[in-house]
Amino acid sequence: MADALETVFDIAILGGGPAGYTAAIRAGQYGLKVALIEATDKLGGTCLHWGCIPTKALLFNAEVWEHVQHAAEFGIENLGTPTLNWQRVLDRKSGITLKHAKGLDFLMKKNKVTVVRGYGRLTGPAQEGVHALAVTAPDGAASVVCARNVFLATGSDAKLLPGLKPDDRILTNMEILTLPEPPKSLIVIGAGAVGVEFSSIFRSFGASVTLLEFLPRLVSNEDAEISKELARVFKKRGIDASTGARVESVQRTDSGVCVDFTDSNGRLQSVEAEKVLIAVGRAPRTADIGLDAVGLATDRGYLAVNEWMETAVPGIYALGDIVAGLPQLAHVGSMAGMVAAARVAGRPARPIRRNRIPACTYTEPQIGSAGMTEEAARAAGHEVKVGKFPFAGNSKATILGTHDGFVKIVADAKYGEILGVHILGPGATEIIAEAVAVMELEGTVDEMIFSIHAHPTLAEAMLDAYAAVEGMAINA
Ligand code: NAD
Repeated sequence: MADALETVFDIAILGGGPAGYTAAIRAGQYGLKVALIEATDKLGGTCLHWGCIPTKALLFNAEVWEHVQHAAEFGIENLGTPTLNWQRVLDRKSGITLKHAKGLDFLMKKNKVTVVRGYGRLTGPAQEGVHALAVTAPDGAASVVCARNVFLATGSDAKLLPGLKPDDRILTNMEILTLPEPPKSLIVIGAGAVGVEFSSIFRSFGASVTLLEFLPRLVSNEDAEISKELARVFKKRGIDASTGARVESVQRTDSGVCVDFTDSNGRLQSVEAEKVLIAVGRAPRTADIGLDAVGLATDRGYLAVNEWMETAVPGIYALGDIVAGLPQLAHVGSMAGMVAAARVAGRPARPIRRNRIPACTYTEPQIGSAGMTEEAARAAGHEVKVGKFPFAGNSKATILGTHDGFVKIVADAKYGEILGVHILGPGATEIIAEAVAVMELEGTVDEMIFSIHAHPTLAEAMLDAYAAVEGMAINA
């Protein structure tokens, strides 16, 4: 620790989530002297401890559970009555996060990053180009970390509805991950990624799920046809989803919770369940990190940055969920960290391109999308051609026993450039990687129609969808 205090670092990073730790590793690889300041006792942030990783671990348990329920379909018999050992499910999830948290500690050592445990705040304007951060350690000890550049990567917290506090029944993404047993009934408020993922997971574990969304469709950031197909499949799976629903009140009852809402026809409705999950978005954590001291203003807590992630104050960068105008996704935060690290190191870098960001939602079935929705492409003035291929025509999907969903390609009508790819179905979160690569290289429909996709794969649905733009899918 003493070394940390005597050194003027090249970069001090505030926050050890994906944005912060990726920036630290990359800066270390460039040979820069880096301090990573983290308030909690583990690196990894929301993603590793309360988000991406534990939820996807649970999702995998849910998938295995569903397979076991349908084992007879696959010729596996005499399993008896399968039971769910919830503690084992939770232990497996915790084991996964712990393994990766330890992995991060190793990567910090490997890349000679000095990890400083404590809560950090900017103290004032830079003195001769050196910024100072006051750090309060968990035991109350105070220290100062000095650096020529500061990366702010403090992340976000789940928003609640006015007047609510999380407890054992009113849950955010955090409380829902440590429930002593899976709820028999669950109300989910908000049908963004958090809301639809937990709806899907707990429906698989047998809960009756009511999903309430204020906007007219589920996953409203996605292409409208994806929302429609998800609503259809959720209905088939027995998830009771209402859109255009305005939540009026959330109350604790003797045995659970009661939510009153006005439905899309203006009728007041009431639903009861054991638990309610509030999934109405996340707010940036920037209130208490000394922004005033350096003269940095925010827009509702978000920091504006230039294409290199630098804020209005030279040498202070912002990464991850606190950045204005970028989606709050781990992979966006980590790429922002790599961009900023390269910039400070004077190495070649390329700004993040908004239209090249994959969005992956881990529901059953999955959603993977990148680029413009059909609606956005038309609104941007493109003459658009669309190709759609249903997984019903894909042989690997048949082998997996799942046929819902499709691949939709949005292409420029004149030159055939691929502007957007929208997938709902098996493997969607994996296959979308191809779409990002193709769009990065400004690929066209003509080129992709002649790109060989292995058979039988889910990725082959992409080949058929490119061909569908010209009305020439082979398998439909
Ligand atoms: P979100 O902003 O994506 O969705 C919140 C939803 O809640 C919106 O559809 C909104 O219309 C609705 N809503 C807001 N107030 C409401 C109300 N009073 N009643 C009913 N509906 C209401 O937020 P989120 O789902 O909480 O996720 C937070 C962030 O984390 C997002 O940026 C999300 O993309 C990200 N995230 C990503 C993943 C993933 O990539 N798989 C998973 C989880 C979270």
